[in-house]
Amino acid sequence: MRTAEEYLAKLRGMRRNVHYRGELVDRDHPDIMPGIRVISETFKVDDPALKGLAAATSHLTGETVNRFCHIHCTTDDLLAKQKLTRLLCRRTGGCIQRCMGIDALNALSVVTKLAQDATDIDYHERFNRYLRYFQENDLVGNAAQTDVKGDRSKRPSEQADPDLYVRVVERGRDGIVVRGAKAHNTIGPYCDEIIVLPTRLMTPNDADWSVAFAVPADAEGVHQYIRATHPRPRSFLKAPVAEFGACDSLTVFDDVFVPWERVFLCGETVFAGQLAALFATYHRHSYTGCKAAVSDIVLGAAALVAEYNGVAKAPHVRDKLAELIAVGELVFAAGVAASVTAQPASSGTMVPDIIFTNVGRYHAGVNVMHEFEILIDLAGGLPATLPPEEEWANPESARFLDKYIMRNPSVSAENQHRCFRLLSDLLCSSNSGVMQVAGVHGGGSPIMERIAITSLYDFEEKKALARYLAGITS
Ligand SMILES: Cc1cc2nc3c(=O)[nH]c(=O)nc-3n(C[C@H](O)[C@H](O)[C@H](O)COP(=O)(O)OP(=O)(O)OC[C@H]3O[C@@H](n4cnc5c(N)ncnc54)[C@H](O)[C@@H]3O)c2cc1C
Repeated sequence: MRTAEEYLAKLRGMRRNVHYRGELVDRDHPDIMPGIRVISETFKVDDPALKGLAAATSHLTGETVNRFCHIHCTTDDLLAKQKLTRLLCRRTGGCIQRCMGIDALNALSVVTKLAQDATDIDYHERFNRYLRYFQENDLVGNAAQTDVKGDRSKRPSEQADPDLYVRVVERGRDGIVVRGAKAHNTIGPYCDEIIVLPTRLMTPNDADWSVAFAVPADAEGVHQYIRATHPRPRSFLKAPVAEFGACDSLTVFDDVFVPWERVFLCGETVFAGQLAALFATYHRHSYTGCKAAVSDIVLGAAALVAEYNGVAKAPHVRDKLAELIAVGELVFAAGVAASVTAQPASSGTMVPDIIFTNVGRYHAGVNVMHEFEILIDLAGGLPATLPPEEEWANPESARFLDKYIMRNPSVSAENQHRCFRLLSDLLCSSNSGVMQVAGVHGGGSPIMERIAITSLYDFEEKKALARYLAGITS
């Protein structure tokens, strides 16, 4: 397994294809480093707090591998991933980002087997060779699923410009050439590999768009246009929350050659749809860990500011804290239920229960803004109007600022200041906006979970129950 230092060293050696604020930049650019620090936490497999969670045994080689490179072979594997995700997301302020690689690998392990069995093309063997390489090198994978999609009412083959969904433009003896762009690719500039998956169900006319493959993130023809976000940098009031951040890329594939060995689906429209849905299932299962962590952070901040404001025992405060607990723990519980009722696919990979997974992610998505609303309510207006940290550097100003930030007299002025600066980061920074949008749309907008739930739920079984209770026998 790699260390965080080895991971960074590899990023530093990669070809420059990351565009940021109008320039080509190195992957260790200061605005990208907060995201790199997040991923670095996943390499701390010997951390006693992560014992039994951070490492796993590869079913391919029997070697110990990083959990984020592992295929779930048991229900305990799914539970371990969920718990690890929650722990690491708490530590890094809300998102561990490396989940999407493991989610993509697990979905591919299932669907390449189905496709191989149906077509006689060696998709699953190719995938297993790739997985072995991925595990042995302890790689970080980005899942590039979301196409830019153009006119949302039209399928890939119906778009005015066929490149609005990533597609195969050439098939050759040695591989394929792909063109198009994927949007919102978290960890794009600090991953080793981009794993490309289809984003939706496909019709028979969409064969050229039914493609899954992996390329190194700096492959020839790949261009990343990135946005970086992190809480406001601190000059002297250092705090863990300000060390971490994220980047997302618009990843352009400008006629990128992909050798067959790295192509996992090519033209199989039915399996493309299954792969899209299954990645979403694994990713929504990860959300039952990470969104529970976001709820933990919001709840912790809400309880702390209520205590600092001296209103912790007020009944309306207790009610609001109870609401926050109900959201976070129910989301997590849905993930636990999905883990323990998981079923093996033909590849042996465990698939979390799709209904529990989707109701968990749905519950998180529709409640996230309400959670932030409660935090805003309990925090008051100061997170929005807190004077910049630099004002405290001047002892004359600090004298007034410390005096007038005081609330509960048993809490020091510095801790009051620290608490409100955290709240400012959680509620008023650009990072906070991204967290909120990600809370709604990441892993699929709430409507997508509703569609998954209603299309797969066993309504007939429920109607049979109603008929039984009503005494309807014919
Ligand atoms: C911070 C963040 C990080 C992300 N990271 C990744 C990542 O690493 N990899 C990745 O692949 N994706 C990632 N995503 C993408 C995420 O999965 C998508 O944002 C989500 O699936 C919604 O897609 P969209 O943004 O294109 O919105 P749209 O699809 O444009 O949705 C906007 C609205 O239009 C509606 N709509 C869309 N299509 C239709 C239709 N045909 N009929 C009716 N209504 C429709 C939707 O329901 C929604 O209400 C990330 C998103 C965020 C916010």
